[in-house]
Amino acid sequence: MTADSLGRPLKDLRISITDRCNFRCDYCMPPEKFGLGYEFLPRSEILSFEDIILLVKAMLPLGLEKVRITGGEPLLRKGIEKLISMIRECDYGLDIALTTNGSLLSKFARKLAVSGLDRVTISLDAIDDDIVQDISNSNIGSNDIISGVKSAIDAGLAVKINTVIIRNYNENQIVPIVKEFYRLGVIVRFIEYMDVGGTKDWNPEQVVFGDEIRSIIAKDYGELVPVKPEKYGEVANRWALSDGYQIGFIESISKPFCQSCTRARIAANGKLYTCLFAERGHDLKSLIKLGANVGDLQAAISKIWFNRDDKYSEIRHLNNLDKTPVEMHFIGG
Ligand code: SAM
Ligand code: SF4
Ligand code: SF4
Repeated sequence: MTADSLGRPLKDLRISITDRCNFRCDYCMPPEKFGLGYEFLPRSEILSFEDIILLVKAMLPLGLEKVRITGGEPLLRKGIEKLISMIRECDYGLDIALTTNGSLLSKFARKLAVSGLDRVTISLDAIDDDIVQDISNSNIGSNDIISGVKSAIDAGLAVKINTVIIRNYNENQIVPIVKEFYRLGVIVRFIEYMDVGGTKDWNPEQVVFGDEIRSIIAKDYGELVPVKPEKYGEVANRWALSDGYQIGFIESISKPFCQSCTRARIAANGKLYTCLFAERGHDLKSLIKLGANVGDLQAAISKIWFNRDDKYSEIRHLNNLDKTPVEMHFIGG
């Protein structure tokens, strides 16, 4: 097991397989910035499936337990089911997950499950179609996404919903979201709006803390009770309604969890980031281009992880950090 300078093991890899997306969520890829003239990464700079497999193989001996495929919108990447089966062949015990906006999931769910995907997290910030369309700057409706959720369940995938709550934007969707997914028996995780990426001015007043979200839910569903974490490094704090239905809260602003952060991130261009808020990545794609094999990559990643000391969410309040973190659609959520 490889531990970083704060004693945290490397257990999870989040890999962004494309920087492109069919949505333009205001908090991630605002259309003013990601319009027609925006230049995405050229194909030649994006990690190939073979590159990704080399990286997964290099991380497995370091203690890797879980790989999450993300983006941009990962279902836009051609042949994604092939990639999933290639990762599955690396290790049959590896937990393989995907984060998606759900718009194409009905089409892909079964193929992904057959290829070896274990779980899928679907992002949906509202039930009201006007709000969904307003946030995502697309013409999608919540029913389109919910159809994707149902296809994933039918395909046997473990499913969770991610909902970012932003003040004066979608707090009125907290209860409708709980209502819809409680009915379907699917876990929802509410995410505190983060100052990630350099795309839009983040305003701390727009953050709705987990405590407030829980008190809004409690008005309709009764007090929630905290559920003990099952394992080290769980991102979401889980709370339960009186009948046991669980709701997660990813409270990286009000309750940072850097002390147990076991996640490495690889951006679409093959740069390894040791924190979501890192400004600089380590260029693994160049090493691969120079002929690095699995052992060389393992040594390079081990050294990077050994030196890791990131804990941005814990020191955010110092408010003197003149940082331009990498953008979310590029590094992956
Ligand atoms: N396109 C896919 C999706 O939306 O699920 C995968 C990539 S997206 C960057 C991953 C996750 O990041 C989504 O759940 C999204 O809501 C979340 N996200 C993006 N920007 C965020 C922000 N500023 N604060 C909190 N979560 C954010
Ligand atoms: Fe696309 Fe996901 Fe970012 Fe929305 S949050 S713009 S769906 S990458
Ligand atoms: Fe991990 Fe960085 Fe987030 Fe802290 S701020 S939990 S170190 S990704």
